[in-house]
Amino acid sequence: MINRRQRFKIEAVKPPKQDPQERVHNFNEVSQPYTPELAMEQAQRCLYCDHAPCSKACPLHNDIPAALFLLGQGDFIGAALKFMETSNLPDVCGRICPQEKQCEGSCVVVPRNPAVCVGKLEAFVIDYVRKNYGYPMREKAAPTGMKVAVVGAGPAGLAVAEELAVRGHEVVVYDMWPYPGGLLLYGIPGFKLNKDIVFSKITYLEQMGIRFVCNYRVGKEHPVEDLFKQGFDLVFLGYGAVKGGEMKVPGEDTLQNVYQATEYLVRGNLSPELLPDVWRNLPDPKPHCTGVTIVIGGGDTAMDCVRTARRLNPGAKVYCVYRRSEVEMPGRYEERINAVEEGVQFEWLTAPVKFIGDDEGKVVAAECIRMRLGAPDAKGRRSPVPIEGSNFIIHCDTVALAIGYSPETAIPETTTNLKTTKWGSVIVESEETGLTTREDLYAAGDNVRGADLVVTAVAAARKAALAMHQKLMAMRDKKCRVLGEPGPSTVVLSTE
Ligand SMILES: Cc1cc2nc3c(=O)[nH]c(=O)nc-3n(C[C@H](O)[C@H](O)[C@H](O)COP(=O)(O)OP(=O)(O)OC[C@H]3O[C@@H](n4cnc5c(N)ncnc54)[C@H](O)[C@@H]3O)c2cc1C
Repeated sequence: MINRRQRFKIEAVKPPKQDPQERVHNFNEVSQPYTPELAMEQAQRCLYCDHAPCSKACPLHNDIPAALFLLGQGDFIGAALKFMETSNLPDVCGRICPQEKQCEGSCVVVPRNPAVCVGKLEAFVIDYVRKNYGYPMREKAAPTGMKVAVVGAGPAGLAVAEELAVRGHEVVVYDMWPYPGGLLLYGIPGFKLNKDIVFSKITYLEQMGIRFVCNYRVGKEHPVEDLFKQGFDLVFLGYGAVKGGEMKVPGEDTLQNVYQATEYLVRGNLSPELLPDVWRNLPDPKPHCTGVTIVIGGGDTAMDCVRTARRLNPGAKVYCVYRRSEVEMPGRYEERINAVEEGVQFEWLTAPVKFIGDDEGKVVAAECIRMRLGAPDAKGRRSPVPIEGSNFIIHCDTVALAIGYSPETAIPETTTNLKTTKWGSVIVESEETGLTTREDLYAAGDNVRGADLVVTAVAAARKAALAMHQKLMAMRDKKCRVLGEPGPSTVVLSTE
């Protein structure tokens, strides 16, 4: 085995990317995988430090030094299992976590060397195992006879479902979209995250006995109480934050070819069979894409929209219009660079004040105003202030609004005693349990935190699943005592 000094000398090599000229003509992943040899070499750049700041910075506390040690030795299965010990979606997180702010952001080889490419190595090793052997099946505890309904098949719901199923509980997942996956499918484009990963994960969960019921919207049509009437002992809420933000400027919700980001991304990226009927049955399910497209916003969603626009029509101009300057942009730096490489143009310190339509009601221009940065807001970000008289016109044919998300209110409005904050987020006792203001309802993910990240949704969901497991076993124990049957001490309770 090579020593620490030798490891420090290994040159950092990132995996290759598809050429920008080529990739705007396809929706395939931009980042290409490491070869096994290069992955082993790059894993050996890790210094395996005992205090592992990378693990501490990971919301899931993945044991990164141990996984990279195994990978460096060529033990791909061992490395994959190490990541899977703490993560339900390591191949997703390896691709789309903001590693530069988490594990890689605290890597000790920086600043003398570039950080170890933890994310790409994690993605490599899980892909390798999935493609060659399939996801390793987890051992399941004996059936407990307890039933859980999970509302929402996004990262939070999928993680809770898996953690409860391995502990022997019967799990049914309900989702309003035609297929499970949440924003992994109905949001994040394939050029960042290959959809086959989501499909493989769903197949794996089905093989574990988890049942998915799609096109099922909980709330007004199917109240949460109906789930209890069907015999579920507990319900988990993982319905995310999928309501698009409003700009409150004229034309945004009246003109044709002005889209909310979700609709734009779903119609732009997915094949028709995955779309809900309302879009699948349109004469052309793809969003409008001739002429100029402008995308309003500066986060990950905005970058996904501009890059989708380039791929829908590689010959057309695409602008990103953002009201602050580049340094305040909240999205990942890597994605912004990808957008620049793909020919997206940026209008910083600019905000639309009005969308203008033609006689047929189709958008033809955005009237914008220049901004300057004023005093910092509560979070320390400098607020944009309009510069009076600086209005100008950007001619455009399509607009996508990517200005943030918040949780839908239909479920809290139709569920007695389920309390939310004034922003619509479900109130929980703490993220350690995910217990809501009702004893029989738990929640985690974006519907608790507001729009955030896959990794934080999974981390909170895993904690909620453990708390739910304890509650379910206590409930079962009580039921058994009433019926005079042997209690749960006679069965395997948990895999932990
Ligand atoms: C365009 C885009 C790009 C993103 N890029 C990244 C990224 O690069 N990296 C990253 O870490 N994060 C990214 N995110 C954020 C990430 O996708 C979310 O934080 C994560 O998916 C939250 O998981 P969740 O399970 O809480 O919610 P979701 O993934 O939103 O899943 C919620 C599920 O609940 C379902 N649902 C909602 N209401 C109901 C109802 N009433 N009845 C039944 N089902 C319902 C929805 O259909 C959905 O399937 C991105 C988000 C978007 C929108």
